[in-house]
Amino acid sequence: MIASDLDTAIAGLRDLIDDAQRIVPFTGAGISTESGIPDFRSPGGLWTHNRPIPFDEYVASAEARREAWRRRFNIEATFAQAKPGRGHLALASLYRAGRVPGVVTQNIDNLHPMSGVAPHDIVELHGNTTYATCLDCGQRYELGPIRSRFEVNGEEPPDCDCGGIVKTATISFGQAMPEDAMRRAQQLASACDLLLAVGSSLVVWPAAGIPLIAKRSGAKLVIINREPTEFDEFADLVVRNDIGDALAPFIRH
Ligand code: NAD
Repeated sequence: MIASDLDTAIAGLRDLIDDAQRIVPFTGAGISTESGIPDFRSPGGLWTHNRPIPFDEYVASAEARREAWRRRFNIEATFAQAKPGRGHLALASLYRAGRVPGVVTQNIDNLHPMSGVAPHDIVELHGNTTYATCLDCGQRYELGPIRSRFEVNGEEPPDCDCGGIVKTATISFGQAMPEDAMRRAQQLASACDLLLAVGSSLVVWPAAGIPLIAKRSGAKLVIINREPTEFDEFADLVVRNDIGDALAPFIRH
């Protein structure tokens, strides 16, 4: 069912949330646009400015790495200022109320932990851009010191002490998905009774398969996204309103 207006959407959401014991949110970039972080596919989104740098190019080319770090530092002020929006706060309220065993996210912006969901209950399918790791040994690096060195060293991309390549702790196109995160997401999806797909165009695979796992396992599926998605026909409720407006009534302080 596609909700015809905001009041109908909120009433439908309330019924489904009240009836559910285990609610699993599956979030995408759309939940963070209210926080000032552009998504990929909306008009003016990141996709329209910069072609994503695939993983094999990042590994093969120092120039691609230089460009990736330039872009990352250019957007740092946006990430650093971002605060959780109403969607994040509503999901955190459901989590605090014991209704959400875990949040599965495609986002890399760290806003779910900032909203009060414990990091161990968040599955970051595409990693986290607020720090970096070595692709060989896994050593963690903070972005501040990397940036200082990048700027004084003529934009030389960083390497690890072990000689490996350093990259933000995100999953690029063409990069293997983190196995543990995928397994946890699949477990959460198959054991929930309500999956809330919030702010995702549901076109990036294999992440997009998570809501379908929930539906096939008998859960109800809600899609909250202002644009249609290919999965709308499988949803028990489709909300085409603004995410913040639709979820604000579920915020508890
Ligand atoms: P996407 O950009 O493909 O889709 C976002 C969807 O959210 C769009 O369909 C858009 O219409 C909708 N949307 C945006 N703002 C909305 C609002 N306020 N209310 C209702 N709907 C809204 O994002 P995706 O599906 O998450 O896939 C993109 C990939 O890009 C992900 O893998 C993610 O890792 C990455 N990404 C992450 C961030 C972030 O961390 N915030 C930002 C950009 C891209």
